[in-house]
Amino acid sequence: MVSQTPHTGIRERLGELCYSAGLLNPLQKMRAWWQKDLRILAYHRVMPVPDPEQYEFDMELVSTTPEEFREQMTLVRERYRPMRLSDVAAAINAGHPLPPDAVVITFDDGYDDNYRIAYPILKELGVPATFFISTGHIDSGRPYAYDWLVHMILLSDASRLELPELGMDVPMPATRDERRALAGQVLDNMKEISALTQAAMIRRLEDEWQMPSEHARPADCRPMNWDQLREMRAAGLEIGSHGVNHWMLSKLPREELEREVLDSRNALLRELGPMPLLMSYPVGSNRAFDRQVIEVTRDAGFDLACSYISGTNPRPADNRYSLYRIAVERYYGKAWFAALLAMPGVVGYPTPAHLATTDERACL
Ligand SMILES: [Zn+2]
Repeated sequence: MVSQTPHTGIRERLGELCYSAGLLNPLQKMRAWWQKDLRILAYHRVMPVPDPEQYEFDMELVSTTPEEFREQMTLVRERYRPMRLSDVAAAINAGHPLPPDAVVITFDDGYDDNYRIAYPILKELGVPATFFISTGHIDSGRPYAYDWLVHMILLSDASRLELPELGMDVPMPATRDERRALAGQVLDNMKEISALTQAAMIRRLEDEWQMPSEHARPADCRPMNWDQLREMRAAGLEIGSHGVNHWMLSKLPREELEREVLDSRNALLRELGPMPLLMSYPVGSNRAFDRQVIEVTRDAGFDLACSYISGTNPRPADNRYSLYRIAVERYYGKAWFAALLAMPGVVGYPTPAHLATTDERACL
């Protein structure tokens, strides 16, 4: 989310080489003999890549373009076994193995391009997907807080960025590029402080800079609404929880944590009717959820939960409340994407968080 520059390392070159040599398909088939892991792709936004000089929100949330998304979903349909996440849960509950090459498509946050752009493509191709939404934003239509923070830093006419909460006090850079980099640094640093302090900090900046999000409805940063979600659900797509306010659940007092999980669950059931309960922890790194978050999620009746830690799931029954995902980034070309799916352990980047949670996973 923070990285501004594409990776250009050996893993991509290897993936692209295998792709252009026509090796991916045989390698994938061979791999499926011994490695029957569940791959879950994680997207945020699907939209044409905007001009960074004009665009006033977080570029890092653009996962792919409409054209590339169509190519990606076509590949998933042709070479893999796309599954609904609730069918994965049902198979785990029944003790049934998943089919080889099972792939699940997921989206986080609930931006309206998911409805306008991704949904028609998924419907046309018959590929199932799960959309994790922050229900408070669907209720209110307010822009997402982290995106709004980036927006404020890009456009503010303040001369300094003063964030005592983060120990930051720096002159406001002149160029938009520099401001984007600074906003990325702020987002990163924020993830160390409590969720309520994060929210209060953003509110304070909104007041000080007179840039309130309360009535702002920018077209480029708009959540879906419940009618759109009802239509998607009627078409067979799945909707899950991404909290109410997109707060990092492990950074909340117990009472607030329970409220985020239960209120988001109740909003889903109230607006969309009975459904299998699926969760994606906001932010999703190993700092964003812990044992207590998992317990509250499980006790609220959720069947499965996704993290944002990079990896595949060889035995999803073992980590059903902290499933690993493969994030799709906008700078992946066709070859890299294909290689990432065919050889995820080789081409994908393991995050330190993945390694850090391996032990913890065994205890869950
Ligand atoms: Zn999110």
